[in-house]
Amino acid sequence: MRKISILGATGSIGSQALSIVDAYPNKFSISALSAHSNAEELFSLVRKYRPSAAALTLGEVPIPKDLSFCSWYFGETALEKIARDIPSDDVLVSVVGMSALKAVINAIDTGKRVLLANKETIVAGGSVIMPKCDLFSENANLIPIDSEHSAIHQCLLGAKDNAFNSLILTASGGPFRNYSIKEMQNVRPEDALKHPIWDMGKKITIDSASMFNKALEIIEAKWLFAAKPSQIDVLVHPESIVHSMVEYKDYAVVAQLGVPDMRTSIMYAMFYPVRMGAVSERLNLSDIHTLHFEKPNTMCFPSISLAYEALRLGGSAPCALNAANEVAVQAFLDGKIGFLNMADTVKYLLSKDLPKAENADEIIYADSWARFKATEYIHSIN
Ligand code: NDP
Ligand code: MG
Repeated sequence: MRKISILGATGSIGSQALSIVDAYPNKFSISALSAHSNAEELFSLVRKYRPSAAALTLGEVPIPKDLSFCSWYFGETALEKIARDIPSDDVLVSVVGMSALKAVINAIDTGKRVLLANKETIVAGGSVIMPKCDLFSENANLIPIDSEHSAIHQCLLGAKDNAFNSLILTASGGPFRNYSIKEMQNVRPEDALKHPIWDMGKKITIDSASMFNKALEIIEAKWLFAAKPSQIDVLVHPESIVHSMVEYKDYAVVAQLGVPDMRTSIMYAMFYPVRMGAVSERLNLSDIHTLHFEKPNTMCFPSISLAYEALRLGGSAPCALNAANEVAVQAFLDGKIGFLNMADTVKYLLSKDLPKAENADEIIYADSWARFKATEYIHSIN
């Protein structure tokens, strides 16, 4: 039985991970669970799974008497303490935003395996996380959950170093795939929160609509698979059946396909390197008939070019892109800025002299600095 901690247990990925624990009750015991503000939901999960630790990252609240069997952690440092101190084989990181940076580092440093759904952390902190990580051996200590990176991980199994020409990330294109720039100017949060394929948390749903999700994934792919920016391509594939592809040097292309269901990628990571019986539906290509692929429209979705620009700039630019985007997404959801202003905010940040980011504390500083500047910019355009 593997011991697993789930950081962000109340979210879309966290609850799907727990559904896999339910499907395989003899395979896992829960070491720790966290939520941010949803105390009631966390209380009911703690009652059900009886972890040895639990955390509410927003801050302290009164804990019901029947839940005193578990150690409680509160506030910003809760996740890094749990990741370091609570014995566990795996730490599944499904919080939103880059608040899990120190937790990921601590989990790896204390010999745990990280199952990583959270992309913001690797985008901002890839330079300090990746030198500690091994993705492919029997002792792999980092397994990606993001479906594209899970697909690429599967396509690269058994490959020797430098064997690939390019990593081809697929993108559904989101709800505004066929919109003109003019139509995108008038997009409201409620329109952007309706994703045609995936049912996800709010932040990533907005990111999918603006294609900042793909921008983050380009940077995530660079870090996870040591790819050069010129080796990472994006193809819009509205059916979301091909989850990503690898083109090898001999032009052989290996793809991973399946119905769009995050539980497949979550399960792959939770059981890696073993394959277990599915919890999702079976893919039937003869029912689907046709799959479509097209280049992304980088005029309407400047996010893609901004990702390559951040990689070209290097240093803390990916961290600044991520921080500015997080601030801009919240401002868009709050009705303070328009849909296209999100890319403007990121573009503004990338034009600044950025602080250096060579260790975890510098990355956290660069992140706060970029949030401050992004907030200033948003005030200035209102
Ligand atoms: P959700 O918004 O559904 O869930 C987020 C989880 O993190 C909740 O448990 C939430 O707690 C907690 N949380 C929120 N804010 C903070 C914070 N500041 N500090 C610590 N914990 C926090 O997100 P998703 O599950 O959709 O996404 C999680 C991560 O996985 C993201 O990085 C996303 O990009 C990535 N991802 C998600 C996919 C999906 O299909 N959903 C697919 C691929 C990647 P509370 O409930 O209390 O607010
Ligand atoms: Mg993805």
